[in-house]
Amino acid sequence: MAIIRCSECGNEVSDTAQNCPNCGADIQQQIFDSLSPEEQREVLAPRERARLIYAGGLVVTFLGLAINCFVDEYVPAWKGVLFLLLALIVVIVYVHAKKGNLERW
Ligand SMILES: [Zn+2]
Repeated sequence: MAIIRCSECGNEVSDTAQNCPNCGADIQQQIFDSLSPEEQREVLAPRERARLIYAGGLVVTFLGLAINCFVDEYVPAWKGVLFLLLALIVVIVYVHAKKGNLERW
């Protein structure tokens, strides 16, 4: 833990604080912004991996359910189409999130 200066108001604030107590600026965002692009990528790498595993798992699950709907004669095929749409939505959301991959969320 260290004391840093808020880049918005110059107030001294702990580097573990979420916001500056004086002006409310996002301290963690300021610390993140002060890192080099390589360091930022390092910080975000585990999050990126988790996102990929989560999205990949959802896509595989929805594709599996879709295939099951098309193969099983007792399940109507339109349900399979719905699962294909869900898989597509997951891919779109993942790609969209990856485009802004230096954004913290
Ligand atoms: Zn401040």
